[in-house]
This record gives sequence, C-alpha cells and structure tokens, in this order.
Amino acid sequence: MRGHAARQGAALGELVIVNTCAVTTEAERQARQAIRRAHRDRPGAHIVVTGCAAQIDPARWAALPGVSRVLGNEDKLRPDAWTPAALGAGDRVSDIMAATETAAHLVTEFSGRSRAFVQVQQGCDHRCTFCIIPFGRGPSRSVPIGAVVEQVRALVRSGYREVVLTGVDVTSYGSDLPGRPALGQMVRRLLALVPELERLRLSSLDPVEIDEDLWRLLAEEPRLMPHLHLSLQAGADLVLKRMKRRHLTDDVRRVVDRARALRPGIGFGADVIAGFPTETEALFADTLDFLRELALPYLHVFPYSERPGTPAARMPAIPVGERRERAARLRALGAENAASFHRGLVGQIVRVLAETAGGGHSEQFAPVRLVGEEGAGDGRTPGEVVEARVTGIDDKGVVAKAA
Ligand code: SF4
Repeated sequence: MRGHAARQGAALGELVIVNTCAVTTEAERQARQAIRRAHRDRPGAHIVVTGCAAQIDPARWAALPGVSRVLGNEDKLRPDAWTPAALGAGDRVSDIMAATETAAHLVTEFSGRSRAFVQVQQGCDHRCTFCIIPFGRGPSRSVPIGAVVEQVRALVRSGYREVVLTGVDVTSYGSDLPGRPALGQMVRRLLALVPELERLRLSSLDPVEIDEDLWRLLAEEPRLMPHLHLSLQAGADLVLKRMKRRHLTDDVRRVVDRARALRPGIGFGADVIAGFPTETEALFADTLDFLRELALPYLHVFPYSERPGTPAARMPAIPVGERRERAARLRALGAENAASFHRGLVGQIVRVLAETAGGGHSEQFAPVRLVGEEGAGDGRTPGEVVEARVTGIDDKGVVAKAA
C-alpha cells in the first residue's frame, strides 16, 4: 500500500493507513484507538482505514472522526485506489465473497525485519464456528507458482536468507489453480527454482491437510526448516467438533509423531483457544493433558473472544475471567514445554538467523540469545546466519555462543 501510494504521487507525509484486524474484539479496539491517536496527533492527515474489520463493517469505520476513506481488502491493493484524487473520493469496498484470484505483490523489503514474508494464499473456504476471517478475506485463492518464485528471487536478491510462506489457510494452496498443485508441490518447485534461498519456513498449517509431497520434503530437504506451526485450537475432540475443525486429537498425534520421526528435534508451534463456549473444566483439562503429552513447545494462546455473527457467539459462553484464567494455565504449560525443548538443545550446534545484534531464532524456531566473551552480546548484523553452540537456557529460550 505504501508502495502504491508513493508511485501514484500521494504525499506520504500526510497519509496514515490503518490496516485493521477483525480476529478479536480487542484487535478492533486497538485499531479504533490507533485511529483516534492518529487524528489527534496529525489533524491534517488523510486517514485511510482498510483491512478485515473495515471490510466486514465499513460504515462503522467511516463514521469515526478523522477517517477520510474506507477501502476493502481487495480495493486496497489496486494502485488507482491511492492516487491523490482518489484519497478524497469516498469509500470503496467491493464484495470480497466475489473475489476469484489474489494478485502477487512484489515486495522487496520488510523494514526492520530479518526474515521476509510471502503471501502465497488468501481467503478461506472453511467455516470454523468461532471465526470471522472468511468474511474479511473472502474465498480461498492462491498465488500462481511462477509469481511466488519471482517474489522469492527478488527477496533473496535484496539479501534475505529466510523466507516464510504465509496464507490464511495455506494448506489449501493450489485448489483453485490449473492442475491443482498442492502446497508441497509448490514448495518443491520453489526450492528447485531458487537454489540460492537458504531457509524456507511455513506459517500455520491445518494438521489434516499436509500433503505427501510436503511430508517428503520435510524428510529430505534441509532448507525447509524443521518447524511446523499447527492450527490446533483445542485438545479435546468434543470442542474440536463444536469448533467445526477438520481434525481430532488422534489426527494431530499422528502428524506430530510422523514429523518427529522424519525430522528428529523438530520444533512445533500451535494456536490454542482457551474457554471456547461449552468448554467445561473437564474438557479444558483434556486440552491441557493433550498438550502436555505432545510436549508442543511454542503455544500461541488466545482467550476465546466472541465475534458477532459467528455460530460460536450463540453458544453458551464461559465467563471472561475463566477464559483468562485458562489462558494463563495454557501459557504456563507452554513455558514448561518450551523449557524442556530448550534443555534438549543444550550442547548442540544451532544455525541462528540474527534478528538483532544479540540474537534471533534457530532453525527449530527456538529463540536464541547469542553471547560473546564474558557474556556480552555477540554484535551480529541482523539478517546474518550464525552457527552457535547452545550453552544453556534462560526464561526466553536458549543461550548460545558462536561456534
Ligand atoms: S480455517 Fe482458519 S481462517 Fe478458515 S474459518 Fe477456520 S479458523 Fe478461520
């Protein structure tokens, strides 16, 4: 969006873009706060509001003081939405459910980040009962392989050594493309066509949709990072069914076992919702037991937040305090799992993508603090890959010394 606005001659100094998120009520509250702050601090600026919350309910955002324009999620990616004349031309929010393709957007720099992100898929055809995302992002559509390759090449040329492939429902990649290439096939071609890419990581995966090509790559391809982030959400079958997820706990057990057999020492992340409607203390205990059994180290825990218009918002709710308390227990378990995963790395050599002068993440996605002589920071350049021996753990991750 910044690139389009600059190329169309908009005065960037007088433009504030607020890209809203609708995934929780809290995310929307923060977006409203950001708009109020922008209006207060820069009263003359054009404030353009876009993103999922704006797509779902444009009128609500257009009514906020200081907002010049509301743009839909497809509309924000059209260059002509950003001409100086268009900035005062009223709202433009097209029907996202009618979107049939997703454009590739050549981005060559992520300011302040050492890893680059490439969106290969957009939208979602599933209807998990808690989720509003399909109404903000529209149906599932994929970026053709050629465009993904071109984008990754451009990023590698700009100096990025690690690329993360992202999407709303990335495991549904390809079903709308000619020949229906699955995610694994796309990743295989990408790695073959961009041999200079050192590290490739995948964002959140749906556990039951990992295809055979992807499994083979996990076993054979060292440039595919030994790290899977699973869209798990709960560890109790009844809750998973009420969420209308497509996996049960046994499916996840099989995925985790298979991945560990193919790539010993692989790191796992998982998204988990605490206090989903109807989740009794016993069902919650099942989730805790399951996550303890699977020993997944990197848990992203969210207390359940109702989204008006979703089926889950009409189910019997758990009190908010209870949701927060369960989230805290899940996070505590996550910290225990992470500590034991990190203890297992002590003595090993890890390859770290430096994000700051003093640390970054290993291939398994363990947070690494790099120390030099006498425990001082190691003075690394962000973006560089460092081999280091893990000497211990701290409360955030592992401590390692350049090997
Ligand atoms: S698969 Fe993900 S994006 Fe799609 S409805 Fe379910 S939670 Fe939402």
